[in-house]
Amino acid sequence: MLDEEMDAFLKSLEEEEEGSTKSQKQPPKRKTKPVNDPLADDLDSILNDPDFETDRRKSEKPTKLQRNPPKKCSVVYIGKKESPISQVSCPNIRCMKCDCGVVCFNDFDWDGNIEYLFLRNNYPDFERLKSRLKPVKGVFAYACQCNSVSVNKQTSVNSVKNSLKWFCGSH
Ligand SMILES: [Zn+2]
Ligand SMILES: [Zn+2]
Repeated sequence: MLDEEMDAFLKSLEEEEEGSTKSQKQPPKRKTKPVNDPLADDLDSILNDPDFETDRRKSEKPTKLQRNPPKKCSVVYIGKKESPISQVSCPNIRCMKCDCGVVCFNDFDWDGNIEYLFLRNNYPDFERLKSRLKPVKGVFAYACQCNSVSVNKQTSVNSVKNSLKWFCGSH
């Protein structure tokens, strides 16, 4: 009699447990429902699609190439290049002393020695600098805010004037 009661009690416990596990299993079932959703299916197939991954990698490649460090001249050249095989003159020269970009005026030569104060007051405005520039075909007049130089052929900055502290600002 007691055993029967115990069995019945255990059975009822089991039933309760089964019931509770069933109710616990139900929420995950509901969670899996969105998978049947056509939108979720599409997203799943896109994410699992190996082509989608490679496509993403392919599209990432060009931006990674653009992030490569910019080109920097080891030797800064000024003036016109003499032949197609010679080094192209640097298009972005900067001055270490005055921290300014170097400007270039094609077919102009500096009229005599240009004083520091003149550059200081007039750089980089051509309209103001031209009072000391004379037109000379084939000559390149360069200036930063503290120094100037003119060349009629391509040459490296270091070889033309010792006081020039010009470097490549990368491009
Ligand atoms: Zn350069
Ligand atoms: Zn300078």
